Amino acid sequence: MKRREFIGAIAGATAATALTACGKDEAPVQVTSAAPQKTYEWKMVTTWPKNFPGLGTGANKIAELITEMSGGRINVKVYGAGELVGAFEVFDAVSRGNAQLGHAGAYYWKGKIPSAAFFSSVPFGLTANEMNAWLYYGGGMELWEEAYKPFGLIPNPGGNSGTQMGGWFNKEINSVEDLKGLKMRIPGLGGEVLKRAGGIPVTLPGGELFPSMQSGALDATEWVGPYNDLAFGFYKVAKYYYTPGWHEPGTTMECMINEAAFNELPADLQSIVRNAIKVANGDMLAEYTARNQQALQTLINKHGVELRNFPDSVLKELKTISEQVVEEEAKNDALSAKVWASQKAFRDQVVKWTEVSEFAYVRARGL
Ligand code: CA
Repeated sequence: MKRREFIGAIAGATAATALTACGKDEAPVQVTSAAPQKTYEWKMVTTWPKNFPGLGTGANKIAELITEMSGGRINVKVYGAGELVGAFEVFDAVSRGNAQLGHAGAYYWKGKIPSAAFFSSVPFGLTANEMNAWLYYGGGMELWEEAYKPFGLIPNPGGNSGTQMGGWFNKEINSVEDLKGLKMRIPGLGGEVLKRAGGIPVTLPGGELFPSMQSGALDATEWVGPYNDLAFGFYKVAKYYYTPGWHEPGTTMECMINEAAFNELPADLQSIVRNAIKVANGDMLAEYTARNQQALQTLINKHGVELRNFPDSVLKELKTISEQVVEEEAKNDALSAKVWASQKAFRDQVVKWTEVSEFAYVRARGL
């Protein structure tokens, strides 16, 4: 469907009404020079349940900011998963121009664009802070744009969950053997790692996870972190809550823009769209940090959830497998190889800074 647009009423435009003196003997003539301003009706489709805490509300925030900052010249209507298109149809819908914006996670499109997974999260890869550093200042955005260009899409980081949790299990994980035959919802590269460790990875949208755990169709699931996992009620269907989320150390959400729709906008509105998304990117991480710590206490103290650390031996083995999986994935596709080379070089450098700065401080604070 073609984007609806209409001409805004002159009264609503920032009309410039000028008084022009045409000559000393002539009365001033009032000239209305206001070109009626075009307004744009945009749709945003999302892979999240409507208004879902953090993810859905993060998408809402982008829409609200664009509408507010543009003074209503762009009106964005948000659709939750299944309202306009299904959760995993977001990419195609925005690519075709059925919606102008899409809020999702790039790793969902791994089957279409192998390199997409590197723009959301890589097992044992970058943290949220490091990911933003790579994207904005380390060459990441240029590569992401290259990956989405053939689909008529402009990518943007549109939020970050921070370090996720390892997931919900009904048995203790004491060795990698315990992962064998385990049917677990875990998307992207993390899923490939689980498969290599003998598990059975499943990709399902968030809304299907609770019933799948309840019916036993899934043995285990990861989702995000305490804030979101509490909202889905996983504590009712699983006993152990494992940390850390080795598979998603700082997952970047995305807000893709249909390129043709973006190119139709005047420069000031283009800047508003890009910067509204940028504001929301940082805002989501702040919200997750604030809410996760509250929700974790609720899960433990109110719902009796047992918090567990994956043993170091399990993490070491998963890390070794992760390195192999990521290298192999990168070799299968020319752009993935280029993206991974960039991200790996950045990781190997930034890890030294993170260790002497934030990590050293957090350690010191705990003494
Ligand atoms: Ca996750």
